[in-house]
Amino acid sequence: MKTRGSFLKRLPPLHIQIAAAMLLGAACGIFLGPDAALAGIPLKSVYHFLGTAFINALKMIIVPLILSSIITGVTGMKSGEELGRMGAFTIVYYMVTSLAAILAGLFLVQLIKPGLIDGLPVGHDLGLDSLSQEVVEKISSHHSSELANVFLRMIPTNIFKAAAEGQMLGIIFFGVISGLALLRLRTERAIQTVTRFWDGLFKVMMLMTEWIMKFSPIGIFGLVAGVTASTGVSAFSSLAWFFTTVIAALALHSLITLPALLISWGINPLKHSKAVLPALVTAFSTASSSATLPVTMECLEKTARIPNRITSFVLPLGATVNMDGTALYECVAAMFLAQAYGLHLSFAQQFTVVLTALLTSVGVAGIPAASLVAIAVILGTIGLPAEAIAPLLVVDRVLDMCRTSVNVFSDSCGAAIIYRIEKDTAPRLSRREGAT
Ligand code: ASP
Repeated sequence: MKTRGSFLKRLPPLHIQIAAAMLLGAACGIFLGPDAALAGIPLKSVYHFLGTAFINALKMIIVPLILSSIITGVTGMKSGEELGRMGAFTIVYYMVTSLAAILAGLFLVQLIKPGLIDGLPVGHDLGLDSLSQEVVEKISSHHSSELANVFLRMIPTNIFKAAAEGQMLGIIFFGVISGLALLRLRTERAIQTVTRFWDGLFKVMMLMTEWIMKFSPIGIFGLVAGVTASTGVSAFSSLAWFFTTVIAALALHSLITLPALLISWGINPLKHSKAVLPALVTAFSTASSSATLPVTMECLEKTARIPNRITSFVLPLGATVNMDGTALYECVAAMFLAQAYGLHLSFAQQFTVVLTALLTSVGVAGIPAASLVAIAVILGTIGLPAEAIAPLLVVDRVLDMCRTSVNVFSDSCGAAIIYRIEKDTAPRLSRREGAT
C-alpha cells in the first residue's frame, strides 16, 4: 500500500508547485472573472477561504516565533558587545539600502514623469478634484499616531496586548531585553531552564513553518486568484505609467543595487536568490513581510545555511523596520501625486519626501496596504490632501505584492551580508558554518 509520505515525495519540488499555483490562480482569476461560481458557490469566496487559511496559519506562529528567535539569538551571542556590533551593522545596512531604494524611485519618477501626459498634470483624469470623504477619514484617523509613536510603541505597556495587536517592534524590544537579562543571570539552573524553553519553542515553530509551507501552493493559488478576479486587467490602464515607474524602480533596486551589494561581499546573487525563492513567492502572494518571516528564516537557515544566531536577530528586525520596496513606493507615489496636481517640488521639498519616506518606512507594519498611511503622511508634509491617495488604491494590491517581495529580498540580503561581516570580524566563529 502506498503511504502518504511516498505520495508527497512524488510531487514536483515546492518552488515548481508554487509557480504552477500562481499561474493557475492568475488564469482562473482573469478568465473566470469575479462572478464565477461552482455548484452555486461563488469562486471568490473559495479563493478567499484558501488564501485566508494560509495567511492565518503563518500569522498564528509569528508571535512565538519572533519572541523565541530573538531571545535565542541574543542569548546565543554570549555578550552584549557582540549584540551591539551586530545591531549596529544591521541598522546601517537597513538605512543605506532603504535610502538607495528611495533614490532609485526618485530618479525614475523624475525621469518618466508618470503624473504628466504631454506635459500636463493628469490629476483631473484621476478624479483628484472629487474628494472621497471615506478615504480622508480613514487616513487622518491613523497617520499622526503612525509617525509620532514609532519609538513609543517600542516599549509596550502590556506585552500580551502588543502581541495580540501584532506590534512587532514592542515584541522585539521585549525579546532583546529579556535575552540580555538572561545573559546576566547568575542562577545556572534558571538560565538552563529558560534558555532550553525558548530554544525548544523556536525549533517547534520552525517545524510548523515547514508543515505550513507544504500547503502553501493551495493558499497561494487562492490569494492570486482572488486578487486577479477582483482587480482585473483593465484597472491598470489609467495608471499604467505610474505602475511602470514603480516596477522599474523596484527592478532597479532588486536586480542591480542589492545584487551589487551581495557581490561586493563575495556572495553569489543567483545562488542567494534561488535559496530564498520560496520566501519571495510567499511575500508576493501574501503582501505581508511579517507573515513571510517564518519562510524567510527557513530558507536562509536550511538552504543558504546562514546560522540561526544571525537570522534570528536580523530577520525579525528586518521584517519590521527594513522596507526598501515600501520606502521606494512611498516616494514614487508622493512624487507622482504631486506631478498629477501640477505641483513643482523644490529641492528642499524633495529632500523632505525622501527623509519622510525613510522614517515612515521604519514604522510601517509588515501587513498588506500598510504604506498607504505613510504616503498620506508624506503628502501632508508637501501640502497635498490625504485623499489624493484614493486613485492609487486601484493598483495598490499588485504593487504591494511586488514591493513586499523586495522588502523580504532586502532582509535576506542583509542577513547574508551581516553573516559575512561577522565571519570576517570574528575569526573565532565556527568554520563549519556554511554560506550562500
Ligand atoms: N505590505 C508591505 C509589507 O508587508 C508593507 C506595505 O508596503 O504596505 O512589507
